[in-house]
Formats: sequence, C-alpha cells, structure tokens
Amino acid sequence: MKKLILKSLKSKIQGDIFSSKEFKEFYSVDASSYKIIPSIVVIPKHEKDVINVIRIAKKFKTPVTARGAGTGLVGSALNRGIILDMQKFDQIRITKKYAIIGSGTIKGKIDKELERAKKFFPPNPSVGSYCSVGGMLGNNSSGSRSLKYGSVIDNVEEITFVDGNARKITLPKNKKISNEIIKFSKLVESKKFPNTSKNSSGYRIDKVKSIEDTHKIIIGSEGTLGVILSAKIKIKEMPKKRILYIIGYKSIYVAVRECMKINQTAPTAIEFMDELTLHQIKFKFVKNTKCVLYVEYDEDITKKEKELQSVITGRIIKKLKKEQEIEQWWRYRDLSLYYSLRTIKKEKRVPHIIEDAAVPLKNLPKVFSLLNEINKKYRTKCIVYGHAGNGNVHVRLIADRIKTKIIKNIAKEYFNEIIKLQGTITAEHGDGLARSEFVKKQYGTQNYRIFKEIKKLFDPTNILNPGKIISKKSTIISNLEKF
Ligand SMILES: Cc1cc2nc3c(=O)[nH]c(=O)nc-3n(C[C@H](O)[C@H](O)[C@H](O)COP(=O)(O)OP(=O)(O)OC[C@H]3O[C@@H](n4cnc5c(N)ncnc54)[C@H](O)[C@@H]3O)c2cc1C
Repeated sequence: MKKLILKSLKSKIQGDIFSSKEFKEFYSVDASSYKIIPSIVVIPKHEKDVINVIRIAKKFKTPVTARGAGTGLVGSALNRGIILDMQKFDQIRITKKYAIIGSGTIKGKIDKELERAKKFFPPNPSVGSYCSVGGMLGNNSSGSRSLKYGSVIDNVEEITFVDGNARKITLPKNKKISNEIIKFSKLVESKKFPNTSKNSSGYRIDKVKSIEDTHKIIIGSEGTLGVILSAKIKIKEMPKKRILYIIGYKSIYVAVRECMKINQTAPTAIEFMDELTLHQIKFKFVKNTKCVLYVEYDEDITKKEKELQSVITGRIIKKLKKEQEIEQWWRYRDLSLYYSLRTIKKEKRVPHIIEDAAVPLKNLPKVFSLLNEINKKYRTKCIVYGHAGNGNVHVRLIADRIKTKIIKNIAKEYFNEIIKLQGTITAEHGDGLARSEFVKKQYGTQNYRIFKEIKKLFDPTNILNPGKIISKKSTIISNLEKF
C-alpha cells in the first residue's frame, strides 16, 4: 500500500517527498513527550500539491496531518500516514489594516516585517519567533498580551484552506459552507461551553455568531477540518509606550486573588511565576517571595500606577519603562518552561498533560487548592507559571518514577474539577494526543454530536489528523516516548 501511495504522490506532486528513516524519525516528534512515526513526509510546493495529496490520501484512506514548526506541546502534529510540512507557504503581504500570510510562515519573520511598518500581530506565544502561523491557527494560540488583545481566533478575518474532500475553501467568503456552519451554531448547548476568556479545546462553534465569523470554526481545529493555505490576519499599531511592573508576593493565594482587581485596571498582561521559576532569574528577590505577578500597560500609563497601587498589597519590585529592560524581563517569563525543565532531572518530569487549563478568573485560587490536593494525594510537586489574568495556569508536574496509569488518573481528576469550575481543559495548547479523549466530557453529548457533524462536513472519510479532537481511543498515555 505504501508503495502505491508513494507512486501516486510521485506522479502528481511537484514538491518534495521523503520516506527515508531519518526523515520519518525527524517528523515523529515535536515539543511534546509523544512519538508517532509517519510513513511519508511531503513538503508541498503550492496549493495544487496540497489538493493532490488530499485526493490521494482520500483514495487510499491514509491520514494526512499538517505540520508547522512542531513546537506544539501535546503531539497535535504527530500521526501515522502522510505529514504535510507547510514550510514553503511563507508569503507575507502587508496592508494598512491587515496582512495576508502563508500558513508556513514563521512568526518571527512576520514580527520583523510588521515592526518595520510600526505594526504588530497581537497573539504572542512564549515560544516566541519559532512557531508558524499555521500552527498558531491550528491551536488557537495566544500569549501574555491576549488578556487585552485576545487569542488568534479574535485576530483573524479570513482563512483559505483545503478540506478533506480536496475542496479549496475561503471562509467566511464561501456562503454555501458558511450557511451550513451557521446551522450548526444554532444547535449549540451554550451553557456547556467553558466560561473562560481563552479556550483551545474542541471546535469553537461558540465563536460563530454571524456569517462573518464562520472561518473561526477552522481556528483551533488542529488540522482536523482542513489544511490551511493562508490567512488574512488583523494587525494593530505598535503602542508608543509600555510600562511593566514586577510585583512580589509572600502568599500565592493573595497574588491570585488580587488578579481580579488588577484586571479591572485594564492591563495588557497579568502573568504569574512561582518561587521555583524565580530561582532561575539572576535577581535578588526579597526573602520569602513566593511568587511574582507581571502587570503591563500600553496606554494611559501615567494614571495606571495610582490605579494599580490602590488595588494591590504586593510589593512593586521593579517598574520598567525602557523597552530593553521590559524585553529582558519578558524573556525571563518566556523562559519559564525551559527553567522548569532545567531544574528537574529527566526521570522526574511528568509529560505535559494538565499543563494548560484555564478557569474564570474568580475561580483561580481554587485551581491552586486543587493542585495542592493533587500533590498531597499523588506525592507530586509542581512548578506553576502562566497567564494568570486569563485564569490560565501552566503546570509542570514533578514526581519520583510516576506510573503512566497515575498520570491518567491525575488528568481525569484535574479535568473533572476544572470543568466543574466552568473552565477549559486547554486554553492555548490544544487537545492533541493528551486531551482529545476528554473533549466529550468538556462539552457534553449534544455539543460533541455537533462537533462530529462538523467533522463530517469537512472530512467525511476522517483522513485529516484522525484521532485529534474527535477521538474514539484513549491516547493520553499511548505513544508517550519517554515512558
Ligand atoms: C517553550 C514553549 C512555549 C510555548 N508557549 C506558548 C504560549 O505562550 N502560548 C501558546 O498558545 N502556545 C505556546 N506554546 C505551544 C506552541 O508553540 C504554539 O501552540 C504554536 O503556535 C504552535 O505552532 P507550530 O507551528 O509549532 O505548530 P505545530 O506544532 O506544527 O502544529 C500545531 C497544530 O496545528 C496544526 N497545523 C499546523 N499547520 C497547519 C496548517 N497549515 N493547516 C492546518 N493545521 C495546521 C497541526 O496539525 C497541529 O495540530 C509553547 C510551546 C513551547 C515549546
């Protein structure tokens, strides 16, 4: 079968095709702890190649999974079958209000081009310049400044993609397909959707309020509904000034409780770093500093300090106005994941699985209580940092030789409680191999049925990244590389 597929691909594709062991190994991993070896890797040259790959995959019923830069943390870009590396789709066209970007374009390249025009694309994942636009769209990525500017889903106007029927579609322009999506949006059981400011789980049909929004169904769909060719993204004027406060706290609970009040002062970001992460920064924090909050503003900054002072009990350790200093401290925050890995021996690291939940801000203290309970029950420890203003905490679990079964139990318990707190099991990293089996629990039977119908509309033969979001099997433990 593989030989036949290769033969068909070679006769139709102008891009590169690889099936050697080295290439398959390279594409079998990403930034997660999972590993799946694909059969074939294709680097398409143009959209006709993408259409032909999907036609061939459909004929042979073999999976096709789009891949960007492979920085995803839950194995979303890993699968059997064909991997489509979209790196050659790297065109950038900038106008005053928007930019048209090829899906394989690396974020850093767009940032540089936009900077020249004194503009920026707001979603800013901590992985920085390395991820691709296709991956950001695939995961509905976000970052520290999403508190003010939203996630990818709030910053895109149009998407062109090839679906599992090999149809090239532009949404919301395509009225026929847009109307089908609108029909689904009317059947949604809204109260079962998380009440959070960010969410990367399932299909975001809740964001489709009118015909102008129908492209949003593709955002966060992890390559399961279509292979994105390009997107029209919204761009903003670069703010003239920023100010960043680093606030130290002797109690984590006080810090996270204060996030609600700080949020009312309209900052661009409220970020959290715990004691273990702070140890990595070359700065002498006052003794007993248990955590810090980063609070940033990019408008009305002269009056903001007074407002901030009136709502916090923590101590302002740093007030940064110079762009260079601000960047330096953001680098510390962006390196939290790296710090959290550097300090732990490899055998003690638990894979990313409960690393990305979010809850309504008022429930954030409860997440820390929940983590304490988990630590006590399973004799784990955890490093915590993240986008506190969005109620989104990144958790790195540490344990002595943990068994895979225990990981699954922790995930089940954690996600059940997060859902009860009206939260989401993933705010920005996606469902992938770690969480797809929990999507039904997250959204309930009725919404899950709609998700399946949406999948059927775009991918009736289930060839696009099968097993992600809509999943019959449990994949949380299988395919973990380091266990
Ligand atoms: C150190 C570190 C820090 C991170 N910090 C953040 C953060 O702050 N915020 C955040 O949101 N994420 C963060 N991430 C997660 C990840 O980097 C982002 O989600 C990123 O946007 C993924 O981009 P990628 O190009 O690497 O995607 P990939 O990992 O290659 O793919 C991700 C998903 O998108 C799909 N996809 C890729 N291209 C296409 C396409 N053309 N068409 C359709 N589907 C496609 C894939 O199939 C897959 O399902 C971090 C990761 C690391 C390693």
